[in-house]
Parts: sequence; structure tokens; C-alpha cells
Amino acid sequence: MIIGENIHKSFGDLEVLKGIDLQVQPKEVVVLVGVSGSGKSTLLRCFNFLEEMNSGKITIDGHTINPKKDKLANIRAEVGMVFQHFNLFPHKTVLENVIEAPIIVKKMDKEKAKQLGRSLLEKVGLADKAEVYPSKLSGGQKQRVAIARALAMEPKVLLFDEPTSALDPELVGEVLQVMKQLAEEGMTMVVVTHEMKFAKEVADRVIMLDKGVIIEDADPKTFFENPKNERTRQFIQLVE
Ligand code: ADP
Ligand code: MG
Repeated sequence: MIIGENIHKSFGDLEVLKGIDLQVQPKEVVVLVGVSGSGKSTLLRCFNFLEEMNSGKITIDGHTINPKKDKLANIRAEVGMVFQHFNLFPHKTVLENVIEAPIIVKKMDKEKAKQLGRSLLEKVGLADKAEVYPSKLSGGQKQRVAIARALAMEPKVLLFDEPTSALDPELVGEVLQVMKQLAEEGMTMVVVTHEMKFAKEVADRVIMLDKGVIIEDADPKTFFENPKNERTRQFIQLVE
């Protein structure tokens, strides 16, 4: 569904991604881990062209992206992203947040978008919050709105960048539950998270990024019980 080949990215003299190759199959859930600064966010941002690569190639559902020719809004419609800090529009209601992009980018009819928006809010357990403003929601509710908003574009892949890291511990579960449900429904997902329980239960593959290089790529059982790389072992001891 998404193929990254030989992705290089530097910020000035700092080489953050040093030739990343990553393939994600349709319906696959890949959890991406690594210490802070290893390049996880930068890699996700390259995948939906929030960050311009220095070199490399990205193919989405068989179509190799040419960032000079393809419209970025169209690419981002195919590769949805959920951020640590939700990034909801504060002056729009929950429903307006969810339907904004389909109406603006996909030119969806407003009534149809509202229907879609309400069904997505129901899916994330927030049907009763359609008309309220984000400031009235808990962090876990805000993040579930952000997930509904990403789904509203009917993306081919969803990227999550530490979606529960900004949440109080008691709110983490409700967001992970929604993500787990999406995984079960066959959504293709790449998830940066420190929630190792989620990685063990939901991931098809766990990938460890270290200083801009993939050093481990295995099924969860192998990753946690028998990693190849010493740095992966150290990381697992730190987070568990
Ligand atoms: P992670 O998400 O794994 O913590 P990041 O991808 O955010 O890592 O960052 C990797 C490295 O790139 C860090 O050293 C960070 O400081 C640097 N970096 C990230 N974004 C920028 C930027 N816009 N300008 C300069 N340096 C950046
Ligand atoms: Mg990050």
C-alpha cells in the first residue's frame, strides 16, 4: 500500500534519515519505535509530504508520487495523519472539524459530508458531541475526533505520531481501543507509539529506528523476545 525507498532527509548538516526502505502491505499495522530523536516523526512526515525528502521514492497504492506534479492535498487525502497534539480547529464544532476537509478538498456535498461525519463520530464513540466545541472535550475525546477527521478523507493509509503521548494515563485506553478497532477493520496503519502492549497485541510488524536507520523489523513476538540487535534489546528494557 505504501512503499518508501532509500529515503534520505537532512536538516542542514544533521542527517536524520539515512536511506530508509519500508514497505507496508494493505491492511498491515506497523508499529514504529525508537528513542527520541531517532527520526520517527520525520519519517512519517516524509510519508505524507509534510517534509520534503532530499532523495528517495514513495509509492502509494501503486502510484509513485512526484511532489512537483502531484497535488499535495491529494497525496494527503490518501495518507492521513493523526498527531500527538490533535490539531483541531478550536473555532469549529466537532462535526465541522470532521467535515472540513471532505468539503474543501474533495468538494463533497455538505449534506453528504455531514452524514459521513456523523457516522464517523458514532464509530469513535462521540455521536453525542457533534455540536460542541473542542474546548469542551477531554484529551481522549479530542484525539478520537482527530481520528474521525482523518478517516473522513477515506485515506489508504493512516499514520499516527504518538497519538496517546499527550494524554492523561486514564484516557490512553479509549484512543488505543479505537485504533485497535480500525486495525481489525483492515485499515493500513503506521503507528509511532511507546505503548508496547498495543505493539504486542495489534501490530503485524514492529520496526525499530535508530539514528535514522532501521535496525530491527520483525513480528512482535520475535521483536520483543528475540531481537537481533543489541540496541533493540536495550530499548525494550527501557520501555518495558
Ligand atoms: P523522533 O520523532 O524520533 O523523536 P524527529 O524525527 O522528530 O525524531 O527528529 C529527528 C532529529 O531531527 C532530531 O535531532 C530533531 O532535532 C531533528 N529535527 C526534526 N525536525 C527538524 C527541523 N524542522 N529542523 C531541524 N531539525 C529537525
Ligand atoms: Mg517524534
